[in-house]
Amino acid sequence: MSFHQQFITLNNGNKIPAVAIIGTGTRWYKNEETDATFSNSLVEQILYALELPGVIHIDAAEIYRTYPEVGKALSLTKKPRNEIFLTDKYSTQIKVSESPVTGLDVALRKMGSDYVDLYLLHSPFVSKEANGFTLEEAWKDMEQLYQIGKAKNIGVSNFAVKDLERILKIARVKPQVNQIEFSPFLQNQTPDIFEFCQDNDILLEAYSPLGPLQKKITQDDTEPFFEYVKELSERHIKSEAQIILRWVSKRGVLPVTTSSKPQRIADAQNLFSFDLSDEEVDKITELGLKHKPLRIYWNKQYDKY
Ligand code: NDP
Repeated sequence: MSFHQQFITLNNGNKIPAVAIIGTGTRWYKNEETDATFSNSLVEQILYALELPGVIHIDAAEIYRTYPEVGKALSLTKKPRNEIFLTDKYSTQIKVSESPVTGLDVALRKMGSDYVDLYLLHSPFVSKEANGFTLEEAWKDMEQLYQIGKAKNIGVSNFAVKDLERILKIARVKPQVNQIEFSPFLQNQTPDIFEFCQDNDILLEAYSPLGPLQKKITQDDTEPFFEYVKELSERHIKSEAQIILRWVSKRGVLPVTTSSKPQRIADAQNLFSFDLSDEEVDKITELGLKHKPLRIYWNKQYDKY
């Protein structure tokens, strides 16, 4: 198996591994009320990921309630901390902790780390009434964490252009990242966000990049998009998931994926062992745009778009 790792340079000059292979939300997400049990399966998958070559990018969040599993895997791995890129997110919509500063302190304690490599505001849905602080005040907290080195990079998630404009107006440190839902079937989570982030040198990360495959069961398998992805999978001798993840990265977006299957985790870390031509990338873009938009998360907030 050939292995080629790639890194992206953020707007502050720091480097980030160009794919996050082990998201700890979605299929691992725990709803506290109904399921607060410890997931040995998640620990196993993180440990499996940490044995792969290269720097391993883990995506965590306060609201996933999976810090115990991440902490356990970090305590057991032999991979040095500087070969692990750990992202975390402050829960905005559901209040778990008082503020980003206190939230990150608890997160670091639970995950047994002194710092995170990237800390994000999970959404722009912040208000004085609900959270006790405004979006601008939340960003000031993020900047404080950046200045003291507890967060090596800071950013946002699910932000629309108008939310980023509010931050950019008051920021002393510009967000390095905006993590949004992005796939061939959803190429702008909110109007113009793709172009805005690229123009402002804010790296886009794609969560649910495999939306089309996740929902394939309800789609017509014979439609041109799926036929073309299958054709590319055969041409490049790569899985359909790898074809889509590679398309995401060719669009200049960092894919955030996850799996309960070791082979799929390894496939994602091995994403840069092949390439797609510009023509192939453009055709996936076009066929994806012809499909009815598929939004898996934050529907209530964004269904007006
Ligand atoms: P993906 O789109 O990569 O989907 C991963 C899922 O797809 C897994 O459950 C996997 O199942 C399945 N899958 C993988 N390959 C295939 C295939 N070939 N055919 C069918 N299904 C396949 O990402 P997620 O939606 O899971 O999100 C990834 C991460 O992004 C989350 O864990 C979380 O960290 C982050 N996230 C962030 C959000 C935010 O608001 N900021 C919102 C949502 C997610 P299997 O286990 O069987 O391989």
